[in-house]
Amino acid sequence: MAKWVYLFSEGNATMRNLLGGKGANLAEMTNLGLPVPQGFTITTEACTQYYEDGRQINDEIQSQIMEHIEKMEEITGKKFGDKENPLLVSVRSGARASMPGMMDTILNLGLNEEVVDVLSAKSGNPRWAWDCYRRFIQMFSDVVMEVGKKYFEELIDKMKAEKGVTQDVDLTAEDLKDLAGQFKAEYKEKIGADFPTDPKEQLMEAIKAVFRSWDNPRANVYRRDNDIPYSWGTAVNVQMMAFGNMGETSGTGVAFTRDPATGENKLMGEFLMNAQGEDVVAGVRTPQKIDQLREVMPEVYEQFVGITKKLEDHYRDMQDMEFTIEDKHLYMLQTRNGKRTAQAALKIACDLVDEGKISEQEAVAMIDPRNLDTLLHPQFDAKALKEAKAAAKALAASPGAACGKIVFTAEDAKAWNAKGEKVVLVRLETSPEDIEGMKASQGILTVRGGMTSHAAVVARGMGTCCVSGCSEIAMDEANKKFTLAGKEYHEGDWISLDGSTGNIYDGQIPTVDAAIAGEFGRIMAWADKFRTLKVRTNADTPADAKKARELGAEGIGLCRTEHMFFEGDRIDAFREMICSDTVEEREAALEKILPVQQGDFEKLYEALEGNPVTIRFLDPPLHEFVPTEEEDIKKLADAQGKTVEAIKTIIEGLKEFNPMMGHRGCRLTVTYPEIAKMQTKAIIRAAINVSKAHPEWTIKPEIMIPLIGEVKELKYVKDIVVKTADAEIKAAGSALEYEVGTMIEIPRAALTADEIAKEAEFFCFGTNDLTQMTYGFSRDDAGKFLDAYYDAKIFENDPFAKLDQTGVGKLMEMSIKLGKATRPELHVGICGEHGGDPSSVEFCHKIGLDYVSCSPFRVPIARLAAAQAAIKDSRN
Ligand code: PEP
Ligand code: MG
Repeated sequence: MAKWVYLFSEGNATMRNLLGGKGANLAEMTNLGLPVPQGFTITTEACTQYYEDGRQINDEIQSQIMEHIEKMEEITGKKFGDKENPLLVSVRSGARASMPGMMDTILNLGLNEEVVDVLSAKSGNPRWAWDCYRRFIQMFSDVVMEVGKKYFEELIDKMKAEKGVTQDVDLTAEDLKDLAGQFKAEYKEKIGADFPTDPKEQLMEAIKAVFRSWDNPRANVYRRDNDIPYSWGTAVNVQMMAFGNMGETSGTGVAFTRDPATGENKLMGEFLMNAQGEDVVAGVRTPQKIDQLREVMPEVYEQFVGITKKLEDHYRDMQDMEFTIEDKHLYMLQTRNGKRTAQAALKIACDLVDEGKISEQEAVAMIDPRNLDTLLHPQFDAKALKEAKAAAKALAASPGAACGKIVFTAEDAKAWNAKGEKVVLVRLETSPEDIEGMKASQGILTVRGGMTSHAAVVARGMGTCCVSGCSEIAMDEANKKFTLAGKEYHEGDWISLDGSTGNIYDGQIPTVDAAIAGEFGRIMAWADKFRTLKVRTNADTPADAKKARELGAEGIGLCRTEHMFFEGDRIDAFREMICSDTVEEREAALEKILPVQQGDFEKLYEALEGNPVTIRFLDPPLHEFVPTEEEDIKKLADAQGKTVEAIKTIIEGLKEFNPMMGHRGCRLTVTYPEIAKMQTKAIIRAAINVSKAHPEWTIKPEIMIPLIGEVKELKYVKDIVVKTADAEIKAAGSALEYEVGTMIEIPRAALTADEIAKEAEFFCFGTNDLTQMTYGFSRDDAGKFLDAYYDAKIFENDPFAKLDQTGVGKLMEMSIKLGKATRPELHVGICGEHGGDPSSVEFCHKIGLDYVSCSPFRVPIARLAAAQAAIKDSRN
C-alpha cells in the first residue's frame, strides 16, 4: 500500500518532491531538535491522486489521515474535540516550490462551542478562545466554503463601530462570542446548512480545500510565471496550533536572516503581539520590528536569534521563517529559502562565498536567472530625481522605478494596460486576487502593510516596483481618489514611485536604464567559468550590438536585416524594392540600399570586435512593410515615377492570405536573385573593410539563409552567394573566408537535415517559426486562444516563450543528429525567442547546441542559465 501521509518525524529536507517545501523543512527542523509544533504531511502524490479520483480523497488516503490524527494525538497529548485537552490544528499548503500566498491556509481547526468553553475555562482566557473561534469560522467559510471574506469583515467593522473601538484587539470576549454567533448565522444563510462541529469533518473539508486551491486562478497564473508544473501538486501540512493570540505574552512574526531587499547580512523581520499569522501578512495592523522583541521578551529573542543562525548555517542560504510565541514559548512554524530581490540575491550569494559557506558553483546555481531581469530595469534619471521633491515616504518594498497613471483596482490596471497605458496600482492593501492587475502595473502603492505584506512579497517576486504601508494616504477607494500631502489624486493622475527608497512623487519622473556592476559582475564571471554553451545576441542595429556586448554577448546569432529599415526614411528605398515591377526598378532600389546595409554591417563588425556575426538574408513577411497610408503610397509613387493607382495595384497584388507562410525568406531570393546578390556584396565588402582596418580581428562572415525547407532551395541561393562573394573577394585581393548556413525553422528542414547539411555549414534554429509551423499556430494570433488552452490545462506555458521540448525539441534533436552525421563540424545555435528563456537554454545545453542567441537584455539571463545547466549536468 502506498504511503500517503508522513509524520514530521518521518521526513527530512531531501523529501521536498514528496512532502513539499514546507513539509520537508518542518521535518528537517524536527530532526534538528527545534521547537516545532508536531503534526503530519499529506504528500503531493495524494494531491495528484485527489485530482485523478475526480477531486475526491479516496478511502485509503482518508484512513491514513485518520491513523495519523491518532498518532498526532499521542505525540501532543491532545485530542480532537476533547473535554480536557482539545487539539487544534492548522492546515496549510506546501508545494515543492514555494508559492507565497497563492494557496489556502486554515487556522484554529477543531473548534466548536463546547471546545471553546473547555479552552476558556482551561486558559482562564475566554477572549482568546472566542477570538480563535470567530477566526476559524471566518477562514473556514472563506477558504473551504468560498463564502467570501468581505461579509465577515463588514460584521467586524460594524461591531467595532458599535463598541467605539478601532482595533480588533479591543473587542471583548463577549463581543467576539457575539461575532462568532453572527458569523455562523451568515454561514447558514449563505450555505444553507449549520457550521460543522465535528473536527474530523472540518479537517477533511479543509484538506480538500487546500488540494483544490492548487488549481485556483491565482495559483495557475503564479505557476505559469514561475515555471512550476501543474503536475507537481501541493502537499498539505496538518500541524498542532501554537497560539500567538493568547494575550500580551504571546505573539507571532516573520523574519529573514538577511535583508531580502538589499541582501545585507542582518536579521530582519516583523512581529505582532497578541496576534495570529494572518494579521502580520495581511498588513491590517502595522507590526513592530524584530529588534524590538529584544525589549519585549529578551529570552525569547535570544533563543530565536540562535535558531535563525542555526537554520541559515544548516541550509547555507538566507532563510525566511515564521514563528509564534505562545505564552513566552517560542515555536517555529516554517523555514524556507527566502524570496529576494535580484540585488539581494547577488549580494547574498557573493557574501556566502566570502564567508566560506558555499562554493562559487553553488553561488551561481542559487540565483534565479529570471530575477536578473529586474536589475536591468529602469531607474529614475538621477538629475530629474534630485530636482524632484517627494510627496511622501513609505516602505521601500520592491526596488526599481515606476511612473504611471493612477488606477484603483486590479481590473482597471489590466484594462488600462491593455490599452497601452502605463499604470500605478494604488490600493489600501493588495490580496492574491489582485495578481494579474499587479502584473499589468509599472508599480504598486499600498496604504497598509509592511515589508512582508502580500503586496511587498508578490511585487518582489515579480520584479515590480512597490512602495507599501503609506499610512499618510487618506484613501477613498469607493470614489477612486485619495489625498496625500494636501493634494487630492484621482484616477488617471500621474504618480512616480521609487521602490528602492520608498519615496512617492507627484507627477512624472523620467527613467533611465540601470547600471550593472559589483556583485553582478562577480556572479557573471563565475557563470562564464562554468558554462560550455556560448551566448550570442539577436541584434539588428550597431547600438543593440554594443549594448549586448556590454552585457556579455559573444557574437551576433541573428541580425534581421529587414529590421534595419524600420527607421527614418530608410523604409522608402525598401518599399521601392518591394513594389518594383521590373528587375531594373528593383536593381535601382537595391543600389540605394547597398551602401546603407554595408555601412550598418561595418558598424556591427566593429561593435563585435572580431567575434562572430551571423547576418540573415531578408525575410520580410511583406504585410509588415508595404505602405498602407495614403501619404506613404503617394511618396512611393512619386519616387518610382508611377501613379498612385499603379502602386495601389502592385500593393493589391502583393496581398497574401497567410503572409507568414507566404512570399518571404529564401522564396524572395528565388524569385528575385538580385536581392541576395546585393546583400552578399554588402556583407562581404563590409567584412573586407573592417578586416583591413583591424587586422587583429578574425572576421569570418556567417551568411544565413532563412526559411529553407528543401535542400535545392538552399543550393540555389547558396550558389548566388558563393559566386557573388568570391568575385568580391577576388576583386579586393582579399583572403576573407565566410560561411553559408541556414535557419532550421520549417519542419521539413528538420526532417531532411542530413540533406540540408550537405550545403549548410551551420544550422540555427528559428524556433519562432519552427514552433509556429510544428503546431500550425500563427505566431501572431496564438494569444487569442492560449488563455483558453491554459484554462483547459492543454498548455501550461506559451510555446512561443518556453520551448516545446517534446515536439519542437524532438525536431531539433533530430536535426542535430542528422546534420552532424553528414557534416561533423557543423555548428549549431538557436535564435528564436527561446534562446533567452532559462528552461529552454537548459534544453539547448542538453542537446549539444554550440550557442544560444537572444535579445541584448536577456544575455545575462542566458549566461547564467547556461552555467546552471552545465553545473547540473556535472552533478549528474
Ligand atoms: C525564428 O523564426 O525563430 C526567427 C528567429 O526568425 P523570425 O523571428 O525573424 O522569423
Ligand atoms: Mg523565422
